[in-house]
Amino acid sequence: MTEDLDALAKQLDREHVFHSWSAQAGLDLPVIAGGSGTVVWDHAGRRMLDFSSQLVNVNIGHQHPAVVAAIRAQAEELATIGPATANLVRGRAAQRILDKAPDGFAKVFFTNGGADAIENAIRMARLHTGRDTVLSTYRSYHGNTGAAIVATGDWRRMPNQYARGHVHFFGPYLYRSEFWATTPEEESERALHHLERVIQSEGPSTIAALLLESIPGTAGILLPPPGYLAGVRALADEYGIVLILDEVMAGFGRTGRWFAFQGYDVVPDLITFAKGVNSGYVPVGGVIISDAISATFDDRVFPGGLTYSGHPLAAASIVASIDAMESEGIVDNARRVGEDAIGPGLRELATRHPLIGEVRGEGVFWALELVSDRGTREPVGADVIGRLKKELTARGLVPFAADNRIHVVPPCVVTDGEVQEAIAIYDEALTSVEDDGP
Ligand code: PLP
Repeated sequence: MTEDLDALAKQLDREHVFHSWSAQAGLDLPVIAGGSGTVVWDHAGRRMLDFSSQLVNVNIGHQHPAVVAAIRAQAEELATIGPATANLVRGRAAQRILDKAPDGFAKVFFTNGGADAIENAIRMARLHTGRDTVLSTYRSYHGNTGAAIVATGDWRRMPNQYARGHVHFFGPYLYRSEFWATTPEEESERALHHLERVIQSEGPSTIAALLLESIPGTAGILLPPPGYLAGVRALADEYGIVLILDEVMAGFGRTGRWFAFQGYDVVPDLITFAKGVNSGYVPVGGVIISDAISATFDDRVFPGGLTYSGHPLAAASIVASIDAMESEGIVDNARRVGEDAIGPGLRELATRHPLIGEVRGEGVFWALELVSDRGTREPVGADVIGRLKKELTARGLVPFAADNRIHVVPPCVVTDGEVQEAIAIYDEALTSVEDDGP
């Protein structure tokens, strides 16, 4: 008799693994044993379409052979080395990343993931300006460490507010405008006015950094309206504030561009990255540093560091990942699939499903905003999202749900056929939930 590995995985998980952001009792998580591209499976070989990219990080898809081979080869050559060394593959990884960044950036500081990229970007901004306060938006997630979780706007900040010097403001979100706006132009203009008033009221000479996700991701895939990010850049320049754009979720192909901000006529001073840079095959993140900020630390000690900064396995996976994304046209695939298949498919669903209040996104970065009433835009409750997640999972799709939304976020390698299959599953699951009633 073969051992039931799925049952064993669940049992060990329930008994011994303490999970993120959850009450631990009663957790019953799916087993994933293997994967390829957009597909994952359990030990029994049950196939699922991964339209979550896990935590929106597996941009290159599961088990890309070139990335796996590069990690294996690097492990055989030199599996680990300290940060205070000159290491060839680390240098190559930095070079590949900078190759995708705008002019005026020549250095990368490597971290273990996204949150510590934010910590270090904030540290650089504070030391560079000699100021303290960090402004970030209420609709944001920046990671689960000291300053990053307090810079975060959503509920996860509230039990964790131990870092000081953080102030929040509202960014643009036309569907639920804080500014009574009815057009994207109005939303952009009024959100910028609000931000300028916050800057003036806090005292511009105290503000070190403006920290924004180029496209707020977990908060709802909120594409910035025309002129907004350029307007934020202008405010940062006017008041001498460092602009940090968080590209941890939106970067490295997800929008159909290498960096999301490249579609919005803006260049930041610091860029944070993680997730898609190597699709999480080895944990890594970092800060891409503009020349002006980098020069601050030419003769002054940068007071920050990590044992695994620029880990060779992570570095090798970054080089292989960026090379494969380039040679296989993976970023371009994300853009094309978004335009040709995901966008039209989701918009068509919205014509037939009253639960869908708004469809928005680009590339492989889309949200379905679900409402109980299209007129009032009342968000659906957790029960509806729970039922929908169950229906999607039962039909073989790994969903990504946040608040009242389903995010449609497959790997950048997703095919038109897989999108059609997924759209049919969303369609059936929505019908089933709508038929059940509120
Ligand atoms: N910034 C953004 C925009 C994110 O989406 C996340 C994670 O989801 C983070 C930072 C934190 O990254 P990590 O979980 O790797 O620490």
